[in-house]
Amino acid sequence: MPKFEYAPAPESRSIVSLRESYGLFINGEFGPSVDGRAFKTISPATEEVLAEVTEAGPADVDRAVTAARKAYEHTWSAMPGRERAKYLFRIARIVQERARELAVLESLDNGKPIRESRDVDIPLVAAHFFYYAGWADKLEYAGYGPAPRPLGVAGQVIPWNFPLLMLAWKIAPALACGNTVVLKPAETTPLTALAFAEICQQADLPPGVVNIVTGAGETGRALVEHPGIDKVAFTGSTEVGKQIARACAPTRKKVTLELGGKAANVVFEDAPVDQAVEGIVNGIFFNQGHVCCAGSRLLVQESVYDEVLASLRRRLATLRLGDPLDKNTDVGAINSAAQLAKIRELSEVGEAEGAHRWSPPCELPVKGFWFPPTIFTGVSQAHRIAREEIFGPVLSVLTFRTPAEAVEKANNTPYGLSAGVWTEKGSLILWMASRLRAGVVWANTFNKFDPTSPFGGYKESGYGREGGRHGLEAYLDV
Ligand code: NAD
Repeated sequence: MPKFEYAPAPESRSIVSLRESYGLFINGEFGPSVDGRAFKTISPATEEVLAEVTEAGPADVDRAVTAARKAYEHTWSAMPGRERAKYLFRIARIVQERARELAVLESLDNGKPIRESRDVDIPLVAAHFFYYAGWADKLEYAGYGPAPRPLGVAGQVIPWNFPLLMLAWKIAPALACGNTVVLKPAETTPLTALAFAEICQQADLPPGVVNIVTGAGETGRALVEHPGIDKVAFTGSTEVGKQIARACAPTRKKVTLELGGKAANVVFEDAPVDQAVEGIVNGIFFNQGHVCCAGSRLLVQESVYDEVLASLRRRLATLRLGDPLDKNTDVGAINSAAQLAKIRELSEVGEAEGAHRWSPPCELPVKGFWFPPTIFTGVSQAHRIAREEIFGPVLSVLTFRTPAEAVEKANNTPYGLSAGVWTEKGSLILWMASRLRAGVVWANTFNKFDPTSPFGGYKESGYGREGGRHGLEAYLDV
């Protein structure tokens, strides 16, 4: 088959002006930490140091919570919804104006392809702020009573896979409802959250309404355990989610947890194969598989197994892995050395347990953290690669014969975040959707996000919903 060769098409990084070091954003201003500690954030594609970032200790978290409390009591909660909306609309428009810069910054710090940060992450960030701006003056019509009240100060901790988008999921509904926030971005991807702090300044957001404290797990712990916050919103691993649930259990804090997943993507024999293959690829190789709702378990009906697998292998051979800033890149860098080690380890376990590993011929850059798109076949439900979240570009393939068996296998997981169904029959889609224990069920598509639809899990995928009208509930005292 003749192969089309792509010339490099790198997006310029000159639109981003990185500072050498970044302070904490507390009470509307950037400043140092009390004890002067700092860490470096690197580009996972090249291991180049991008900037030095301040590490917030407990005293800094305390200052941030105090600033948020003051802003909550004196400014934000007292402001009419239509006035709060103006700020959110302004933030949304500035995100759009600075979209290219934010996309480049996100790809630099996270390693994700520019095509994704430009076409998915950043437009969705703006969409979330626009959407929740629209709710700010209509909360009495949201179905939570005539005058729903905010909770107070929200402590929010987010992961590294969609840094700015997770920030938007957290901050937009919180502010719309009248809460103020202290947010901690992940330690490997703090830069777009710090750019967002500048956007808050640009939008003239009253000081203290949004505070950004950077740091690692200890900073996150200091935040969620701070007695001065009323609400904890966490997205990340199930393990840390459980620790947070335990820490918050004896308190009055309202908690939402958005944790891991091991989603089944179920392909029936009547599905259009080419379309399903695109959905499988999007399901697990989008964002290098660093997606909590990734379709990491492919369930294929036995009768079309050979056809689907042959087509999937052909498609994988066309994926281009490399420079995240190249507009032709499909698969970028793994976010960190630690995550790469985890993906490698679980892949080795997959082989050792008897599954068959396959990757297309794929040259990996020498510098940086890389893992080729990988498929495991011959996977049984007992294998660790069928049960544990790999959080990388690794697909485990299983088969089924009947719809009932598909449901049984799809639900055979401690998680329950998402699922996909591929079939021509509407009745089968509805039959499956009513039986799959997953917060989101996509039909003939995968990884589709929209600010108007709620997102969240069952079982060990967490509790609470983000997005849509449902997402307001997490930030209202109802
Ligand atoms: P993590 O749970 O360790 O970190 C997520 C966030 O929580 C980060 O900001 C981190 O600094 C913070 N944190 C860590 N320990 C904390 C503590 N004790 N208290 C409060 N905050 C704390 O997740 P990770 O290291 O980013 O990734 C590990 C695994 O988590 C992944 O392999 C994947 O399984 C899962 N994950 C899930 C999602 C998701 O969207 N559901 C996103 C990222 C990672």
